[in-house]
Amino acid sequence: MRHVAVIGSGPAGYYTAEGCVKQFAGPDGGGVRVDIIDRLPVPYGLIRTGVAPDHQSIKAVARRYEATALSDHVRFVGNVTIGTDVSIAELLDLYDAVVLATGAPADRPLGVPGDDLPGVIGSAAFVGWYNGHPDFADLHPPLDGPAVVVGAGNVALDVARILAKTGDEFAGSDIVNHALDHLDTGQHERVTILARRGPHQIAMTPKELGELGHLSRAVPVVDPADLPPIDADAALDPGLRKSVAHLRGFAGVPADKPITVAFDFYAMPVAIEGAGHVERVIVERTAVDADGRATGTGETYAIPARLVVSCIGYRTPPIEGVPYDARLGRFANDEGRIAPGLYAVGWARRGPTGTIGTNRPDGFLIADHIAADTSDSDKAGRAGLDRLLAERGVEVVTFRDWQRIEQAEIAAARTGAPREKFVAVGEMLAAKARAAL
Ligand code: NAP
Repeated sequence: MRHVAVIGSGPAGYYTAEGCVKQFAGPDGGGVRVDIIDRLPVPYGLIRTGVAPDHQSIKAVARRYEATALSDHVRFVGNVTIGTDVSIAELLDLYDAVVLATGAPADRPLGVPGDDLPGVIGSAAFVGWYNGHPDFADLHPPLDGPAVVVGAGNVALDVARILAKTGDEFAGSDIVNHALDHLDTGQHERVTILARRGPHQIAMTPKELGELGHLSRAVPVVDPADLPPIDADAALDPGLRKSVAHLRGFAGVPADKPITVAFDFYAMPVAIEGAGHVERVIVERTAVDADGRATGTGETYAIPARLVVSCIGYRTPPIEGVPYDARLGRFANDEGRIAPGLYAVGWARRGPTGTIGTNRPDGFLIADHIAADTSDSDKAGRAGLDRLLAERGVEVVTFRDWQRIEQAEIAAARTGAPREKFVAVGEMLAAKARAAL
C-alpha cells in the first residue's frame, strides 16, 4: 500500500490523485490511499475561485474530479492548513509521498513606484473577489471611474470582460452576488488594457479575445497604427494569427457603447500616482526589438485611473523548510522532485502557465515518480493524520460534507445560476453543521 498526501485540491491535485489511482489501484498496483488536503472547506481550487464565473463549460471539469474524489482510494480532507494544523515534516513521517499542489495564488508585484496605493489590486485578489474566495470577499474594488488592466494574457481578458459585462450577461454564471451588485452600479466607462509589447506578442487566446467583441454595453477598440503590416501575420502560429485577426477586427471601430475597452499596445506602466488613492498610471511608450523584448523609448504619458488591476502572473507562496526558487516564484524542483518523498505538481512545480488540461500529464508524471521512488509501506497514512488532527481539535471537512455544503449553495442560487457560493469559511462550516442535523 502506498500512502500519498496531496496538498491542494485544484486541478493539479486531483490529476495527481487520478494518476496515483491508475498507477497503484489495479490488480498489480499494490494499493494506494490518497488524502487530498485543502485549507478551505471546499474543493477544486482554481476551478472554483480562478476560472471566470461566466466560463461554466471550463468549470464543468470538476465533475471529472468528483469521480476521482468518490473513488474508495481517495479522500478529501478540507479545512486543514499546512503549517498551522499539520507540518510538512509530520506529513513526510506519515505518508510515503507528499505532493505540493498548492498552485500560484499570490500576485507578482508590479514593482513600480505607487504600486501599493489603494486602488491598485492584483488579479489574484480581483478574480478571487468576483469568484467568492474567502480571502478576498471584502475587497470592494473602486468602480467609480476609469480602470486600467495591466498585462496581455487571458487573465487580463477575464478581468476586462467581467468589468465590461452587464448584470444580464452574467445569467447562468456563478459570479457571487456581492460582485454582481457592485459591478452593476459601477461608473467605469473606460477599461484600458496595457500591453507592454505589440499585437504579435500577446498571450491572449482567440476564443477569449473573440468574446470581447460580443458584449452588449462595451466595445473593444484597437488603434490601427499599433497593428503590424498584415503580411507579417502569415509567420505567426495559427492560434496567435487568429487572436491577431480579432484585434484587427477591433481596429478603428467606433466607441459607440457605454464602456470602451481600449487596447494600449507598446505601453509599460512606470509609476502609479495619486493623493492617498490611485489617480493615474504613468506609462512609457516601448519599442519591441528583434528578439521580441520591450524597451522604453523615454516618451511617457498619463492614463487616469480609479482602479488598476495587474494581471502579470502569479507566484507560489513558499512553505517553511521547503526548498524554494525565489527567482521563478515556485518550489525548487527537478521535474517535480523536491526532496526524498516530497514533490511539486502543476503551477507549484512549473509556474503559472498552461491550461487546466496541462496539469493532467503533470499529475501523471508525479504518480510515475512515486512509483519509481517508493515501495509499499506500513506508514500510518490517513489513520495517523486523523489522530493528529483530532488531538489538535481541527474540524475536518470530508467530501460528503462538501457535497452537503454544495447542496446548500445550489439551493441558494439566483434564478438561472448554478449556485450562490458561500464566501466565508464560517458560512461553509455552518452549512455543514446545519446539514448534519
Ligand atoms: P500570462 O499568459 O503569462 O500573461 C501575463 C501578461 O503579463 C503578459 O502579457 C506579460 O507580458 C505581462 N507582464 C508580465 N510582467 C509585466 C510587467 N512587469 N509589466 C507589464 N506587463 C507584464 O499570464 P496570465 O494572464 O496570468 O495567465 C496565466 C495562465 O492561465 C496562462 O497560461 C493563461 O493562458 C491561463 N488562463 C487561461 C484562461 C482561459 O483559457 N480562458 C483564462 C485565464 C488564464 P510579456 O509577454 O511582455 O511578458
